[in-house]
This record gives sequence, structure tokens and C-alpha cells, in this order.
Amino acid sequence: MTETNPFESLQEQLDDAGEYLDVPDDVLGRLKQPERVLETTLSVEMDDGTIETFKAFRSQFNGDRGPYKGGIRYHPGVTRDEVKALSGWMVYKTAVVDIPYGGGKGGIVIEPDDYSESELERITRAFAKELRPFIGVDKDIPAPDVNTGQREMNWIKDTYETLENTTEPGVITGKSPKNGGSLGRVEATGRSTMFAAREIFDYLDRDMEGASVAVQGYGNAGWIAAKLIEDLGANVVAVSDSSGAIYNADGFDARDVKQFKRETGSVSGYDGATEEFSNEDLLTLDVDLLVPAALENAIDGDLAQDVEADVVVEAANGPLTPDADDVLTERGVHVVPDILANAGGVTVSYFEWVQNRQRFQWTEERVNEELEAIITDAFDAMTDAYEADDLPNFRTAAYVVSIQRVADSFEESGSWP
Ligand code: NAD
Repeated sequence: MTETNPFESLQEQLDDAGEYLDVPDDVLGRLKQPERVLETTLSVEMDDGTIETFKAFRSQFNGDRGPYKGGIRYHPGVTRDEVKALSGWMVYKTAVVDIPYGGGKGGIVIEPDDYSESELERITRAFAKELRPFIGVDKDIPAPDVNTGQREMNWIKDTYETLENTTEPGVITGKSPKNGGSLGRVEATGRSTMFAAREIFDYLDRDMEGASVAVQGYGNAGWIAAKLIEDLGANVVAVSDSSGAIYNADGFDARDVKQFKRETGSVSGYDGATEEFSNEDLLTLDVDLLVPAALENAIDGDLAQDVEADVVVEAANGPLTPDADDVLTERGVHVVPDILANAGGVTVSYFEWVQNRQRFQWTEERVNEELEAIITDAFDAMTDAYEADDLPNFRTAAYVVSIQRVADSFEESGSWP
């Protein structure tokens, strides 16, 4: 696997789309760099009384269309460039689904499994204290990402509100429903992945009923996508997590696999599997639909030569390197890009923020209906651009739509000073 710098991948994707856009080079250049990046060292007391330090970042990429918006990730592989790239993808993600936000992203370099809950709480609150001057309901609104969830969001909200002496639940999204979270938020990313899969199958005149599906990564995004795509009548034949991949040509019961993972910690060893193999083998299975839902750069140019799926719907952020993207385009594999397919998370985060500001809770049914409308509208805007401009692939089309929206907003409001 080649080491691809995700920030360079982002810039390459923007350049690719820029060729088809009527946006001046200087404006495009401005849209390829973050506006600011906070880099900080957290000093936190451990349970044994010693002090440990942690590197943490928050990148605010672009705020032309609204407050910066994006998750906070806890992972040993977090780097400044990764956070910058992820914050840039958020700009184009919020623009392609046309919600009034810019893009941000944060992360702490940490293996969270190595720490107790009370240590994680102190680490999270230390980060929230550092973030406080930069975030706010109209400034920058963090959310969960890899290895963070409702618990961490509740801690960040509480730290912010305590230090600011206010109640401002909309400062962060992805909270638990009892702390101002939205119904439907936990399932939102997998749900938009399902809508994207349904729409692309429909667009390509393919039948979802009985379609074979492989899902890489069985965390929040992957398992919910698997469950909801299975509910459309598809056959989930392979899934994986960091322990490896499991396979059954007759298909799994996605809920039962999740129950097994809950009990044992991984999908490996599931007794409904007829075969177990490596993650790489899962990515090259001959299936109708492949859903990468783990981490970025899962498929590089070499591996893309062996991808046998007809359609790829990206639940993860940046799972294909730019080389892989070129190879799949050339080989006629249809890819629905991450910025659209996994935009359900940020879209329901937006609904959460709206509900927090209204101090009024929507029903889950309303959340899911509004999400479906936003994702299908975005899908139509992407395919309209793809056809109208004769674009090489759906990713370029999604970037053409979103960059144009960000550039229009910048140009219409003018530059100051
Ligand atoms: P998660 O931590 O819940 O799950 C990640 C899963 O990937 C786990 O099952 C883990 O075991 C698996 N994994 C890790 N390394 C792997 C490997 N090498 N091969 C196979 N599986 C591996 O995280 P998540 O929230 O589901 O996020 C997954 C992806 O989706 C990330 O790229 C994230 O940025 C993206 N995403 C998530 C959300 C959200 O709301 N959760 C929103 C948008 C995008």
C-alpha cells in the first residue's frame, strides 16, 4: 500500500474538477487551503497521577457558506495533513448537499482503547477547553468521527457551557437525545449511504433486489449501511473490520453479525461465515456493490486494478486514492463519492443544530424524510452536472457542483479587507 497524503489527494480532486469549472485560478487556489489550523498539546493527569501529553488539531478550512462544521477523531494515525484534508472534504460535502455550513475537522493523536473512561473524559475536556475560543453555535460546530460518539460530544457541550456560563447545545452535534441530540443521528451516515446506493442502482437501471454487497468496516457507518441496504433486498455477502473479513455467498443477516461483534469485539469467528480472509481480499471480491466504510486510502491504484465490483459507494472519507479513482474511471466502475454518500451524518447534524436553535425536537420519521429529500436532491444535482458537462465520473461532478456553490458565495459576498 502506497502512503498517500490525504491533503494532496484533496487538492488533486479539486484540480481535477477545476478543469471543468468557470472559476478563476486565484479563487480556486484559495479554496485549496485551510483558513486556519489549531495545533495544541494537551497535558492531562492520568489515573495513576502522572501527566501525559497529547497532540491535537482543529482545522477550519472554509467558512464562506456558514460556520465551520466537522467531526473530531481519536486515532493514533491522526496528523495535521489528515485533519486539513478531512476539513476540506467537509466544505465540499456541506456544499454538495447544500446545507449552510463551511468545513472543519479535528483530532487527537491517541489510541483510545489504552485509556480508562475517566482519563478519556479528562482528555476530551482538556481539548474542549482549548477549542472554546474557536468554536460556537455560529462559528465552528464539532461532531463525532472515528472513535468518538455521543459520550464525547456530551462532555464537550458540558465543558463549553460551563466555561461560557450559558446553555448552547448547538455548539456541538452528535449528542445523545437526552442532551439535545437529534433522533436518527446515529443511523444517518449509513442511511445516506443506503440512499446513495439505491439512487445509483436506479440511475444505472440495476436491480438492488438480490444484488451482492461487500462492506469494509463494520462500525457506525458500515454496519448501518449494511443493515439498510439489506433491507432493500440486497445480499450482504462479505463484511470486515480491523480483525479481518468474513464471507458467505448466500448472504449474512447484518443485524446478527452486529450482535456477534457486540458480544465478541469483532466479526471474525462469526459462525454464519463460510470463509474468512484478509481485508484486501474483500475489496477485490466480484460483487455488484462495494461499500468501503473504514478509513481513508483503503484502495490504491494497484489494488484498484483488481477491484471486481461494478459499483462503489463510499461510506468512509477518502477510501480511494486519486490513482485508484483514475483506474476505476478508466475501467468503467461507477463510484458515488464520499462527499455525497456519507453526507447523512453532517446533514442530520444540521437538523440537530436547527432543532437546538428552535428548542424543538423533530420525530425520527421527519428526520429520515428530510434526509432522504436532501440526499436525493444532491444525487440529482450531481448526475445533472455529470450529463450536462460530459464529466469523467461522479466524483468530478460532485466537486463541480460544490466548488461552484462555494466560489459563488465567496464572489458574491466580496473580499475584505
Ligand atoms: P467506527 O470507528 O465506528 O468504525 C470503523 C470500522 O472500521 C470498525 O469496524 C473498524 O474495526 C474498521 N476498520 C478499521 N481499520 C480497518 C481496516 N484496515 N480494514 C477493515 N476495517 C477496518 O467509525 P465510523 O464512524 O463508522 O467511520 C468510518 C468511516 O466513515 C470514516 O472514514 C469516517 O470518517 C466516515 N464517516 C463517518 C461518519 C459518522 O457519522 N460516523 C460520517 C461521515 C463519514
